[in-house]
Amino acid sequence: MPPPILTSTWSSVRSGLPPSMAASLFRLSRPRRVLLPLSALRLPLSTQPLPQPRDPSSPNSNRGLPAFLSFLAAAAAGGITSSVALCDAGPDHRVGGKDSTELVVRGERKCVPQQFIEELASFLGENLTVDYEERSFHGTPQNSFHKAVNVPDVVVFPKSQYEVRNIVMTCNKYKVPIVPYGGATSIEGHTLAPHGGVCIDMSSMKKIKSLHVEDMDVVVEPGVGWIELNEYLKPHGLFFPLDPVLGSTQPLCIALCRGKACLVSFPRAPPGPGATIGGMCATRCSGSLAVRYGTMRDNVINLQAVLPDGDVVKTGSRARKSAAGYDLTRLIIGSEGTLGVITEVTLRLQKLPSHSVVAMCNFQTVKDAADVAIATMHSGIQVSRVELLDEVQIRAINMANGKSLPEVPTLMFEFIGTEAYALEQTLLVQKIAAEHHGSDFVFVEEPNAKEELWKIRKEALWAGFAMKPDHEAMITDVCVPLSRLAECISVSKQLLDASPLTCLVIAHAGDGNFHTIILFDPTQEEERREAERLNHFMVHTALSMEGTCTGEHGVGTGKMKYLEKELGMESLRTMKRIKAALDPNNIMNPGKLIPPHVCI
Ligand SMILES: Cc1cc2nc3c(=O)[nH]c(=O)nc-3n(C[C@H](O)[C@H](O)[C@H](O)COP(=O)(O)OP(=O)(O)OC[C@H]3O[C@@H](n4cnc5c(N)ncnc54)[C@H](O)[C@@H]3O)c2cc1C
Repeated sequence: MPPPILTSTWSSVRSGLPPSMAASLFRLSRPRRVLLPLSALRLPLSTQPLPQPRDPSSPNSNRGLPAFLSFLAAAAAGGITSSVALCDAGPDHRVGGKDSTELVVRGERKCVPQQFIEELASFLGENLTVDYEERSFHGTPQNSFHKAVNVPDVVVFPKSQYEVRNIVMTCNKYKVPIVPYGGATSIEGHTLAPHGGVCIDMSSMKKIKSLHVEDMDVVVEPGVGWIELNEYLKPHGLFFPLDPVLGSTQPLCIALCRGKACLVSFPRAPPGPGATIGGMCATRCSGSLAVRYGTMRDNVINLQAVLPDGDVVKTGSRARKSAAGYDLTRLIIGSEGTLGVITEVTLRLQKLPSHSVVAMCNFQTVKDAADVAIATMHSGIQVSRVELLDEVQIRAINMANGKSLPEVPTLMFEFIGTEAYALEQTLLVQKIAAEHHGSDFVFVEEPNAKEELWKIRKEALWAGFAMKPDHEAMITDVCVPLSRLAECISVSKQLLDASPLTCLVIAHAGDGNFHTIILFDPTQEEERREAERLNHFMVHTALSMEGTCTGEHGVGTGKMKYLEKELGMESLRTMKRIKAALDPNNIMNPGKLIPPHVCI
């Protein structure tokens, strides 16, 4: 077995492709997983039965909740003896410390005891693997450049909440770290396993448990992808309105096209699952529709999670609103696997719009484009999408798709409602655009034409990779109050345009949120440092405008270094106290979200 050292080029060495492409290709072409037969573990199976989990729907199911709340209260009062490090002074201190520019996340990997594997295997059977390739695959981000020195020691594939609970309790008993794993589309090193431990891959928990058409909600397991869910909902005239990322068939196409040195349109292959509902909850994600429907925070009615001590918490009823106590749903949403494993989610659904119009408009400057997005929001028009792409992003799309769009800053809109209402809104925005030097305003209503236009936007990142095939992307995610968006993008653009690196800008402009895709050569350390410099500048600019370092991608390991400046030490200490109360052994996704220098 090779030593458990992770390198960014693990999959590319095998395929001869650039790391990001190779990871995507590998993800598509590999067998779902390589499971070792249990006998290969050379471990005698334990006969010791595990404690039975409580059914959260049974009358006694809330037994854990008061215990958990009193624990929380004790912690807040300072009466808890926690083994969460009061200050993480360990070797991972460098990543996530204030202004750190370290890349590789260090960790303290302890050998997991054989008896531990044996106990897991006793109830997971084949759904556990210690195969090196599988562990390495799960320890390597599929969509980002982040790295850790270690990979998980074990990967497990639970099929039920019962199994998740048993896994978590076993890990807690042995104090072994857990990294929950959804679609692996997160881009801040969220799924790295710097301390080794157990990766819980949720892909076998993808049941749609119940659909309540009349209540417009659905209960799902966390491994369901949002794209699959929407395919299921379509015949019922409903949809789930968050759309973070398409599945992974697109990069395959780009890689193949690139191999022939000619870039043509992407095929219409059905997309893979992309992000999962569990991962989307855990990152508090959003997407292009958030301007109309809000983020994950607004679209989850309740959820169930297994806490580190094995308690199963149901955070609320199925009622659309509730004033019953602390909002545990929102505590878990955005917790990035650091507080518990989400095992069931009830989602709010929307009616599929009867009609929609997609429009596009060109501008001389990104400031003009951003000003139109702001003016549109001020006008009270309820756009369902307003996305800004700069001229570099449009050039990438032209290259990747063989299109000939004008290479200038561009806004894309979607309007929904009745036919007359959607058209009325379109014409109003056309007028606003004209007042801000907009030109070539076009709009389409025919379904194929609309899909074609949105495909351009959805494939933007993959198109960016096509510009620099051997490069990785550092993706920024700042979000500012709406009135500051134009200024924030303009200032950033000046710096980006002066940089030797290729940088593409794409914005969820109606929310004041924009991404820069900074392409850098991973073999050139000075390029990564330049990318870091640009990233730092944009984050600090956004923070100076009362904005945030991350509008939707989350913290992972990559954004921890900015949290003290954004939130202040008191907020971070409060987060750490909550973490210590729920997870005294610090087993849940350790080394993520809360910066290592925060002390309680
Ligand atoms: C091309 C591209 C475009 C993107 N566009 C957007 C966008 O527009 N908007 C946006 O918000 N994001 C976007 N993202 C980021 C990403 O898609 C989201 O962060 C998404 O929510 C991650 O979901 P996932 O299932 O892939 O989670 P993963 O990457 O598997 O995990 C993310 C985090 O969630 C935790 N987790 C996963 N499952 C569970 C569970 N069941 N219980 C507890 N914790 C869990 C993990 O431990 C990890 O910390 C984009 C990413 C890419 C690559």
